[in-house]
Amino acid sequence: MKRTHHCNELCLEQAGEDVVLSGWVHSCRDLGGVIFIDVRDREGRTQLVFDPQETDVALVEVASKLHSESVITVSGKVRQRPDETENSKIPTGQIEVVAASMEVNNEAAVLPFQIDDPETAAKVNEELRLQYRYIDLRRPEIMRNMQLRSKVATATRVFMEEQGFLEVETPTLFKSTPEGAREFLVPSRISPGEFYALPQSPQQFKQILMCSGVDKYFQLARCYRDEDLRSDRQPEFTQVDIEMSFIERDDIYELIEAYLKRVWKVALGCNIETPFPRISYKEVMDRWGSDKPDTRFGLEIVDFTENFASSEFKVFSGAIDGGGVVKALNAKGYACVTQGQMEAMTDTAKSFGAKGLAFIKVENGEWKSPIVKFFSEEEKAALQEKLNIEEGDLILFAADEWLNACEILGKIRLYAAEKLQSLGKLVVPKDQFNFLWVVDFPLLAFDKEMNRWYSSHHPFTSPVEEDIPNLISDPKSVRGQHYDIVVNGVELGGGSIRIHQPEVQKTIFEEVLQLSSEVSQSRFGYMLEAFKYGCPPHGGIALGFDRLIALLCGADSIRDVVAFPKTAKGSCLMTNSPAGVEARQLRDLRVEIKIAKKEE
Ligand code: ASP
Repeated sequence: MKRTHHCNELCLEQAGEDVVLSGWVHSCRDLGGVIFIDVRDREGRTQLVFDPQETDVALVEVASKLHSESVITVSGKVRQRPDETENSKIPTGQIEVVAASMEVNNEAAVLPFQIDDPETAAKVNEELRLQYRYIDLRRPEIMRNMQLRSKVATATRVFMEEQGFLEVETPTLFKSTPEGAREFLVPSRISPGEFYALPQSPQQFKQILMCSGVDKYFQLARCYRDEDLRSDRQPEFTQVDIEMSFIERDDIYELIEAYLKRVWKVALGCNIETPFPRISYKEVMDRWGSDKPDTRFGLEIVDFTENFASSEFKVFSGAIDGGGVVKALNAKGYACVTQGQMEAMTDTAKSFGAKGLAFIKVENGEWKSPIVKFFSEEEKAALQEKLNIEEGDLILFAADEWLNACEILGKIRLYAAEKLQSLGKLVVPKDQFNFLWVVDFPLLAFDKEMNRWYSSHHPFTSPVEEDIPNLISDPKSVRGQHYDIVVNGVELGGGSIRIHQPEVQKTIFEEVLQLSSEVSQSRFGYMLEAFKYGCPPHGGIALGFDRLIALLCGADSIRDVVAFPKTAKGSCLMTNSPAGVEARQLRDLRVEIKIAKKEE
């Protein structure tokens, strides 16, 4: 028997037809000797009826004993469901198939967990679900994510082809280069003692492809980073990786806006407004305390440095004297904050080195706070005016170096927003997408521990042309031609216009980032060399494909949009990797294992 339809296809139109369906036993009910089986495949499900009045009794008997998730092929006749037994929740809910014959293709053993009820299935321990990922993937909610992922991948290829891009694959066995994250290493058997590294991104290859004249490159690229994993990270992930020649920043903005417009249309059928706002790094930090701000709600941070410059309250004026700033935000309606929540926010401030968290609670018409008594009338008036303070509000302050003050309040803003949402005092619309570009990043950031500058994006990012003369004399002031695309508090991607002059690249490596000339030669010599033989000006971007799909699916975790994800410890519970290898394999590689004690 060969199937004639998939399990989400039949409707009244086919009533009376003989059909064959194949799939998994989703659920099985015995109603007074009549067996109802929902047979399910990737597309959906259809009700089969095994009624001793209409079907061979032996077959009804077999059907009644089937375990969930057994695979069957059934032939039968489509008929309209009797009145009042229709199921309006599923597309095939008006019909059923009266079984005539059945093959049991594979009898399933008792399952480690049930998947017929979405709510109970979603509550199953994630480790168990990952161990039996093939069962978990059958859940319609996860299968829908896989289908959407495939659809968006296809839309990406179609769009890029229309725009004149070439899809080029770049190597997975690469070379260790200090680009930022820790790399996975692969020992070479043929060259004992030497290693490949898995690429963190195809960055260098895509730039070299520009030197080759590819002009417009893209790839759905696999990337690898050996980092401690946070909830939204995987050690291997996919990027929509893009590079173009002879362009400026605006060309990238336009391309990505058109691309995301297409993707949102294809995936969700909705129209997103373009162009997206372009906001400087300074402004996003000042207003939202994050370089990936969620702008779907207010609670914006306000600056009070001028107002408190000569304040009696020395904690504020002292911070300003020391070159810092005073900032505050009004968590509207959050005067009901609990002691524990206040402590959690104070801990956030302390984790940035602050001594505490100054606050004002507005209750019964009074500003309740240990610090208000130090404020002058003008200072209070400034707070009132700029923060629109009302009964029930909670004002939170940070007095610190600019970046710290912004980041402290940025974290507190998100925390307060989450609590206010659960109290029903703030609504953050789930189906609204607030895209924006963050631009004008500083090219460099300073690592206090290592006492040296590092690239805020990566070392191939071009400085703004007119700032190049200040690279050595005033690195802090140099702006980078780097941009991030952000939506609803998620960094969807980032990129930059690149350096294409070998001498500027060498200055960045050796004089600014202080790589010795041997290191810069051995790691990046081929790139500096390539730049000498005709390198066009170029730039690009990479978007996190897994994150993009998670956003479109409304999934909380990227694990729900990756077919075979790893746990937070980097293991695949289904295949049990990573795992030991045979001594013979290590001998071939001439690798010996000594597990060193972990450094504290
Ligand atoms: N390669 C960069 C990254 O992975 C993106 C880019 O600059 O194009 O973040």
